[in-house]
Amino acid sequence: MLPSVAAIATPAGPVTAEAWERFGLGIARAAAAALPLDGVLLALHGAMVSALDDDAEGALLAAVRAVVGRDVPVGITLDLHANVSDRMAELADVICPYRTYPHIDMAETGARCARLIGDAMAGRTRPRVVIARRDQAEGLDQGRTDAGPMLEALSRAAAAEARPGILTTSVCVGFSSADIAFMGPSVAVTYDSRTDGAEATARGVAEELMDFCWETRAHEGNEYLTPDDAASRAKAHENGATKPLVIADYADNPGGGAYGDATELLRAMLDAGLENACFGAMVDGEAAAALHAAGEGATVTVSVGGKVDRRFGGGPLSLTGVVERLTDGRFVCDGPMWRGIAKSFGPTGVLRVAGVRVLIVTNAMQITDRQQFLHAGIDPTAMATVALKSMQHFRAAYQPLADAVLVCDTGALCSPDVRARPFKKLRRPIWPLDPLH
Ligand SMILES: [Zn+2]
Repeated sequence: MLPSVAAIATPAGPVTAEAWERFGLGIARAAAAALPLDGVLLALHGAMVSALDDDAEGALLAAVRAVVGRDVPVGITLDLHANVSDRMAELADVICPYRTYPHIDMAETGARCARLIGDAMAGRTRPRVVIARRDQAEGLDQGRTDAGPMLEALSRAAAAEARPGILTTSVCVGFSSADIAFMGPSVAVTYDSRTDGAEATARGVAEELMDFCWETRAHEGNEYLTPDDAASRAKAHENGATKPLVIADYADNPGGGAYGDATELLRAMLDAGLENACFGAMVDGEAAAALHAAGEGATVTVSVGGKVDRRFGGGPLSLTGVVERLTDGRFVCDGPMWRGIAKSFGPTGVLRVAGVRVLIVTNAMQITDRQQFLHAGIDPTAMATVALKSMQHFRAAYQPLADAVLVCDTGALCSPDVRARPFKKLRRPIWPLDPLH
């Protein structure tokens, strides 16, 4: 096995031409340097947009195909939130996305794809992919797999794999912050083109699963509270709390491309007078630097959050508190998503404002792991309230320790209401943006 290029980024704007040249074409160059190849496995997200191409993973597959030709088996793994294009389905021989959200099956997904590529390399199969989608921008309740229609979709997809010639099924729900024509849920089915009738069977499976995705499109498992509602419920929960109430700032999730500096929930928590709470991570390198300049134990007044664009989740808060802890932001995850992986928030500080400990960091990252708080001396299990910026991934590590989970919409960039996004390139008409759908 020959590894090539590995790179990862927290979602933001389109990938620049320079980054595409270095990392994207770097993969194609690595393939060219390693010829002849028996097979290729690309571990992709699937919702990449570059300055050069709305379908950046399709462009990557085209660049790799230009090197290895059409006959070498190429498999891709994807995030469950991939926007899968027709070109990706045409150029990949095998498509394997994650089947969990929170995503905790990355390793199994890679192994599944490698097995299928191995079968093709050995000449036992000749895989190809068909894809189906509907005019819908979202579906299957964002793909959450702790509850809701995605579980039924995955169960039907697994059953379909017993049908003749069906090798694997791929249910992706899309990434709604991408303004591209083909954004939204899709079902891709990998079949063995050597089996008679397998292509037609695969098309039928893909269409049936997309029918289910369409029928259940309006399912919404979360109740989105206002920040003040969430904070007042937290205040009521404080008395006699033995386990924390976890509040997710859904809309300000850096993992979905939000800035991570929305202040509305923190403001509401301070207004409510919470006495034993933590809040994180507030992405504000300027404030983190100010805490480091002041030093541990200092009392400071600092402007926190709301600096990128105050229209999304509130403007800066002027906070006076004690610098309780300073760190370099480095931690090693111990949760179900990223166990053993080292990550870094960059320069980080904990500002204690009355009863609320605010984790202020430099690098944008959603909260998925207990170590993000623990490394800075905050034990989430000792808090009555844990407020965090994440949509759904936090549940892997935080649901088990929570008394209950609340989800709130602070008005930040990743609003649960997809109609709030100013799409220009998305195909129309499409549900739920257009009334007839
Ligand atoms: Zn995802």
